Amino acid sequence: MFAQVALPVPLRSFLTYAVPTDLTPLPGTLVLVPVGRTRQVGVLWSLASQPAWTAGEIRPIIALLEERPLLTDDLLHLLEWMAQYYLCPIGSVIAAAVPGHLRFHKRRRAVWYGTELPADLPDTLRPLAEWLHKRTSLTEETLADRLGQANLNNQLAQLVRRGLVTLEESWHGRHATTASNTQSATLPATPATPPPTLNPDQARHARQLAEAQQTRQFVPFLLHGITGSGKTELYFRAVEQCLALGRQALLMVPEIALTPQLIQRYRNRFQVALAVFHSRLGDAQRFDYWQQIRDGRAKVVIGARSAIFAPFADLGLIVVDEEHDTSYKQEGSVPYQGRDMAVVRARRANAVLILGSATPSLESLTNAGQGRYTLLYLGRRATGTPLPTVELINPGESTLHTPMRFADLLSHPLRQALQDTLAAGQQALLFLNRRGFAPSLLCRRCGQAVNCPHCSVTLTLHKARKQLICHYCDHRQRVHDVCTGCGQLSLFAFGPGTERLEEEVREWLPAARIARLDRDTVGTGLVDLESTLTAFHDRRLDILLGTQMIAKGHHFPGLTLVGVVQAETTLCQPDFRAAERTFQLITQVAGRAGREEGAPGRVMVQSYDPGHYALQAVLTHDVAGFAIQEQRFRQEAGYPPYRRLALLRFSASALQDGETFAHTLRARLPVNEEVQWLGPAQSPLFKLRNRYRWQLLIKEMVPGRLHRCLKPLLALAIPLAGSRIRLEWDVDPYSFV
Ligand code: ADP
Ligand code: ZN
Repeated sequence: MFAQVALPVPLRSFLTYAVPTDLTPLPGTLVLVPVGRTRQVGVLWSLASQPAWTAGEIRPIIALLEERPLLTDDLLHLLEWMAQYYLCPIGSVIAAAVPGHLRFHKRRRAVWYGTELPADLPDTLRPLAEWLHKRTSLTEETLADRLGQANLNNQLAQLVRRGLVTLEESWHGRHATTASNTQSATLPATPATPPPTLNPDQARHARQLAEAQQTRQFVPFLLHGITGSGKTELYFRAVEQCLALGRQALLMVPEIALTPQLIQRYRNRFQVALAVFHSRLGDAQRFDYWQQIRDGRAKVVIGARSAIFAPFADLGLIVVDEEHDTSYKQEGSVPYQGRDMAVVRARRANAVLILGSATPSLESLTNAGQGRYTLLYLGRRATGTPLPTVELINPGESTLHTPMRFADLLSHPLRQALQDTLAAGQQALLFLNRRGFAPSLLCRRCGQAVNCPHCSVTLTLHKARKQLICHYCDHRQRVHDVCTGCGQLSLFAFGPGTERLEEEVREWLPAARIARLDRDTVGTGLVDLESTLTAFHDRRLDILLGTQMIAKGHHFPGLTLVGVVQAETTLCQPDFRAAERTFQLITQVAGRAGREEGAPGRVMVQSYDPGHYALQAVLTHDVAGFAIQEQRFRQEAGYPPYRRLALLRFSASALQDGETFAHTLRARLPVNEEVQWLGPAQSPLFKLRNRYRWQLLIKEMVPGRLHRCLKPLLALAIPLAGSRIRLEWDVDPYSFV
């Protein structure tokens, strides 16, 4: 018997090994195999009676690390699909998917061999020898721990040489060491909250979802429900139904750290084993969760995009909450779209899929429109409160009546509304999607901005820290007073940022209790996200301001006013999804206002471009109207969801190398009617971390032909790139900078 094994290294092919006759492994099992002069852990992918490789010696598998496969059948299928669709080496896919990259280590156990402690033992060896003499056998790790020394190599070797100790070696999963982790998965759930009685719309959808689950087939749904319409309650019902059928459920959320309230709701509701994948989880615990999920001990799994890789024994339901959220997209060398993979996985696992959102992506709306997903719509808030009223304010115009200072971020009407809200004992949320004090420091005289020395962007001013910081490479420098261009003392902070907004609000309302949540305050530990959200929820704060962090999913009973400062921040990105993102983001933030009965919400959106159709649609909460307009634009311009795109990025540390490569590539691009080559051209962010960047956009002209053209392109570009050019590609890209 022969086995095809995938290793977690950037290899495109499987390696062939012989299976010793005493082993009977199944596909998906972790195996230890020889690679050159080392040993590595890989995934046994498939078995065959004939070797797939005959060009040389075939070595045997050394050991199975577990008897049972860790990767289930539908997971193997998903990973293979991923490698093909995203054109990534199967090995890189494994490395991205499996926790801890399958690193296993050799564990050494020292066994006392002598009888008595020799009297002539040097003092340096004595403590170690005493431990071993007393306990006869201990692992190297335990010994190191007891003696408080990191490295016992030398001392152990000396004891071996003296014939007092022998060393036994064994292979261990780096992870499968902890035994007591079941505890953390079966969190003591607080008594279940009695579920509300579903309203007629919810009840109808719940029935439909239940019926679909009964079939044990793949049935995809798009649950489009306005903010607060009770989508989460429907997810709960679907999960309950799934558990009743004895299957497992996966709930995907955009950014787990940002949604502590939601996680808590799940914990309160479910009395079964719940595994929550969050970013603070170590490899060992992640691996442990994997085993629990594989063994069916963990029934409900919550996690961000990478939870799609969990090895379910019997997956019956996948919920993708806030399916439009772009954080489902993984960037980097193994890019993938978690939501799209959920579709692939649910199909293979015969699971029901629910994509839920108040502002579904254009992709999903179009799929629903074309009958590929069943659309479930919730058009009213579950608590009976109306959606907030939305006003658009052009700060440029509002200044005509009540002059603002040049640098002011809050228009007069918004200031007034803030004051009124606080006076009425209610709370306000201010959203500005840009951190720092100001995005640039400009010279008033020569107009020159202070740029990052490593990237082609301006440095952001962080006033409290007295630093200029690059938001791309994290370069930091002190703020200087003098313009390097003209030598004059004329630098000034230009543009908005949350730090500046906080300063302005504190100045305007000195008595208000204010907290700011953004990567600067939360990321540095200055402010605790969870306790701040709780404090705001419990009305111990008056104003919460911040970036995207405050926009998502939260429910604050006392919040009645939402202000959006500079709504166009996301509109002017070089990205065909800019309008869609702006619409989604602002609709989501707006949806935080007035969620409790008796306290209607008010939303004020400041923008210098209030006529933009994305903002006009926010005004009337018009998802369908926006979608129609946006679909027309995408169709005319040939963008997704009508045509697929791919992006080939390349960079070089020497400008000339990159230019030469761009030139050669352009000259060699095959003529092909099925795709359109756009570029290669300099990337909008031309320099990043001292590398110059270019990109080639590939647009599919004939549906379904993208991959047929990408494969030869990569076959051309990869060998051409050599060592000086770094190549990356992205199928269905979300970032174009
Ligand atoms: P969404 O997920 O659509 O934003 P939620 O599920 O969070 O909405 O529901 C919003 C609020 O309405 C929550 O406080 C929830 O407990 C409540 N709710 C949901 N369904 C009902 C119902 N049928 N009757 C009363 N309240 C409900
Ligand atoms: Zn930089």
